[in-house]
Order: sequence, then structure tokens, then C-alpha cells
Amino acid sequence: MNIILLGPPGAGKGTQAQRLVAERGMVQLSTGDMLRAAVKAGTPTGLKAKAVMEAGELVSDEIVSGIIGEALDKLSPETGVIFDGYPRTAPQAESLDALLGERGRQLDHVIELEVDEDALVDRITGRYTCATCGAGYHDRYKQPKVAGVCDTCGGTEFKRRPDDNEETVRTRMAEYRAKTAPILPIYEARGIVSRVDGMADIDAVAAAIGDILGG
Ligand code: ADP
Ligand code: ADP
Ligand code: ZN
Repeated sequence: MNIILLGPPGAGKGTQAQRLVAERGMVQLSTGDMLRAAVKAGTPTGLKAKAVMEAGELVSDEIVSGIIGEALDKLSPETGVIFDGYPRTAPQAESLDALLGERGRQLDHVIELEVDEDALVDRITGRYTCATCGAGYHDRYKQPKVAGVCDTCGGTEFKRRPDDNEETVRTRMAEYRAKTAPILPIYEARGIVSRVDGMADIDAVAAAIGDILGG
């Protein structure tokens, strides 16, 4: 099964993808995570992407489609994939069709997380992750069970993203509206789009996604 989680920054894509990985053994391909890893490692891709990401703008279609192709090649054909934060533009949506087709895969579901934009700044400015395993948390909405200790790996160091500030979030939301939301009709025409209320609590969103995916 191959699915896309679509929604503006802070909608809950990463949170839900991590649940699907834990509960269904799928693999999460997050272009944001892969780009941050490239920036940290100082690779040529990372050097190109750093300033663009800090400004909240979109990295080039060639770069992100390239890293998705490489990531798909590392997976066995049976592994289910969750695309998180990709595709974000019409050319990326076209590339994804080609990348999947070349590998005998097809897209099963596009799940749009519908959210109220006003809530997103709050979600994003309160977001942090485990520095060891990447598990996602929030200052108010998803605290670790034991304060200061990651639920997943027991790590005690956490980090925040440099682009998770109010000003950059506004740019990222504008990019979403201008370039990403317009790709939905491509998938609607294929009858594979489902909508989920992303304002519900994390468990309720996970349950709604579970209903869509079945089994
Ligand atoms: P995205 O990957 O779409 O940018 P995240 O999954 O990182 O979004 O979620 C953004 C922040 O909001 C995180 O801190 C996360 O813990 C929190 N969050 C995610 N889903 C919900 C929800 N349904 N209700 C409240 N907070 C949420
Ligand atoms: P969020 O889930 O909060 O929107 P991501 O982690 O998905 O954030 O992305 C962070 C940044 O990485 C984006 O603002 C953009 O600069 C870059 N990026 C991630 N995925 C893509 C993509 N598919 N196309 C272009 N740029 C991307
Ligand atoms: Zn952890």
C-alpha cells in the first residue's frame, strides 16, 4: 500500500505517519526529514536546501524527487510507503507517478488532513522532537508520559526546528495554498482522496485514518 498524507505545515502528517509506522510496519518517507538530514550532514543537497528551508520556501522539484527515488530504491517491493510532505507541487505529483510506475507501485490513498489555519501557528511553535529517535511531541498537546523522557526510546534530549517560528510558518502556509493544495484535483479525478478532520485529537485522527486504510 502506498499513501500520501497531505495537509499544511502542522496538520499532523508526521504524527500520523509515525503511528502508521509503529502500528502497520509501513515506512515513512518524509522529504522534510531527509532534507534536514542532508543539511546536518553538509551534503551538496543540504548546502543547496538550507537557506531555502530556513526561509520557508520550497526546495527544487528535482532535488526532492531525486531523494524520493533514491529512498524508494532502498525498500523491498512489498513495503508499504507513507509519503509525508511530498508531493508539494504539480511537477512533483507527476514525478511521483513516474517513480512509482517504474517500480511497479501504485498510489492507493491520498488522505487530506483538514485543519483550521489559525490553530497551526500554535501547533508549530509548540512542536519539538526527540533528538535520538525523532519521535514528535508538543508543549501542550503531546507531552511525554514521563516529563523530559522520550516515550519511544528513553532519550532525554529534544530539539526544535529553526523554521518553526511564526514568521516562517506564514510563508510555509502561503506556499501550501499556492502550490500544494492545487494538486488535490489530480487525485480527486482518480477517486482516491479521503478527508479527515485534522482538528480532532491525535487518537481520533488516527482512528479515522485507520478506517480509510482498513484491515
Ligand atoms: P506536520 O508533519 O503536518 O507538519 P506534525 O505531525 O509535526 O505536523 O504536528 C505538528 C505539532 O502538532 C506537533 O507538535 C504534534 O505533536 C502536534 N499535533 C499533531 N496532531 C495533533 C492533533 N490532532 N491535535 C493536537 N496537536 C497535534
Ligand atoms: P512541515 O511538515 O512542517 O510542512 P516539512 O518537514 O515537511 O515541514 O518541510 C520542511 C521544509 O523542507 C519545507 O518548508 C521546505 O523548505 C522543505 N521541503 C520539504 N518537503 C519538500 C517538498 N516536497 N518540496 C519542496 N520543499 C520541501
Ligand atoms: Zn526518542
